[in-house]
Amino acid sequence: MPTDRAFQQCISAQCGATYGVDEVLFACRKCGDLVDVKYDWDALEVPRTLADFEGQWPRRHERLAFSGVWRFHRMLPFAPPERVVTVGEGQTLLQQADRVGRYVDMEAGNLFLQYEGMNPSGSFKDNGMSAAFTHAHTVGAKRAACASTGNTSASLAMYCSVTQLMKAVIFIGTGKISYGKLSQALEYGALTVQIAGDFDDAMARVKEVAEDLGIYLVNSINPFRLEGQKTIMFRVLEALRWETPDWIVVPGGNLGNSSAFGKAFAELYELGLIDHVPRLAVINATGADTLFELYERRGMRWSDGTGDMCIACNYYKELDAANKKAETIASAIEINRPVNLRKCLRALDFCDGVVRQVSDQDILDAKAQVGAGGIGCEPASAASVAGAKLLRKQGVIGADERVVCVLTGHQLKDPTATVAYHTTDQEQFNKVLGSRGVRRASFANRAVAVPNDLSEIIKAIQLYS
Ligand SMILES: *Cc1c(COP(=O)(O)O)cnc(C)c1O
Ligand SMILES: [Zn+2]
Repeated sequence: MPTDRAFQQCISAQCGATYGVDEVLFACRKCGDLVDVKYDWDALEVPRTLADFEGQWPRRHERLAFSGVWRFHRMLPFAPPERVVTVGEGQTLLQQADRVGRYVDMEAGNLFLQYEGMNPSGSFKDNGMSAAFTHAHTVGAKRAACASTGNTSASLAMYCSVTQLMKAVIFIGTGKISYGKLSQALEYGALTVQIAGDFDDAMARVKEVAEDLGIYLVNSINPFRLEGQKTIMFRVLEALRWETPDWIVVPGGNLGNSSAFGKAFAELYELGLIDHVPRLAVINATGADTLFELYERRGMRWSDGTGDMCIACNYYKELDAANKKAETIASAIEINRPVNLRKCLRALDFCDGVVRQVSDQDILDAKAQVGAGGIGCEPASAASVAGAKLLRKQGVIGADERVVCVLTGHQLKDPTATVAYHTTDQEQFNKVLGSRGVRRASFANRAVAVPNDLSEIIKAIQLYS
């Protein structure tokens, strides 16, 4: 498939500059806005119906058909098949979760969880990394870098070590990364640079370093990552037998996922492959609520790409003046300056979206409910379930609507938070969670302490089971 049918384009309505797909740029060179990957669909072979993708299933022995990202190659045809890099990402599950549905107050059969933690590095990031890595490979990159709250670096490190095509350089903030994620980057052999600062600081630095040293940047500011993340929505539709749900609920950090989902639905709609678009709910943590503040409180809108960006600039100045840092147990969304803000506003506009914020308390309680229902997720992921519950309570989501909550990361990514939630050790609880304003472990499953004595053990089991 010739790559000249794909190109990059500035998302600004006033600018709209275009660039070749072989260029490496993370902002428009003319105006500094974000860029999109775009396609000349008329010149490409597009599916006539979504069910056409089922033709890939019997060919699962083939590399591309096996991948949950690349079996939708025709919806992200920026690289020829032979250049595609895949490690078998995207083998994920949409689970009807009635137990969690009851918690959210949905009618039975209407709440679904999209388990992206089942990806090879344990988070949805692999969907995007596979695409960005493919682009990096096609432009001949030898080193790739990212700033990360943990999962992006784990994913990048994994692609580098599995494929041996590139060397990973990752930037992390101090003390903020969970052990599950850090352990992956270290074990997979990434060069790990720990900056004295938080994610926003690491992000600012990695951009400078990538530019100075000519290292390929794979943060979600990278438009190719979002192409891979579109496929999460294709798989949701696939699992629902190509029916569009009423709501997609997703945690918001750098807003790459929400932006990618909006783009996915916009393209499917433009191609006539879906006839209506689900509503999008993006959920912030209370301690990292920039999108909520800008969208719901200050009325910031996309407005055909002409919306007033000063609303964000002014807010960031206020954050600086107050020296306010992002602060939440959901470290993957502990971000105050979401790089994909403008694309997310566009997605919210197209999908008639809403934004909500949920407390660390609500996040951990929701996480415990997800875990009790099986498979589980990391704290940031549970913001989606906590957000769905809030939107139900507010009457925004109806009990009879079909809701898909995206679980972005694996349960084992952040065992510290989970164990502290279930612990009987008040000191540990206070240290990890109490310091974040969490007061209760509403659904704790506490370990039962017994003496090392057979009859005492038997007594305890009979008492508690
Ligand atoms: C990266 C990440 C997020 C945030 O996603 P964005 O696309 O940056 O909004 C949420 N949850 C997990 C587990 C993540 O790794
Ligand atoms: Zn531009």
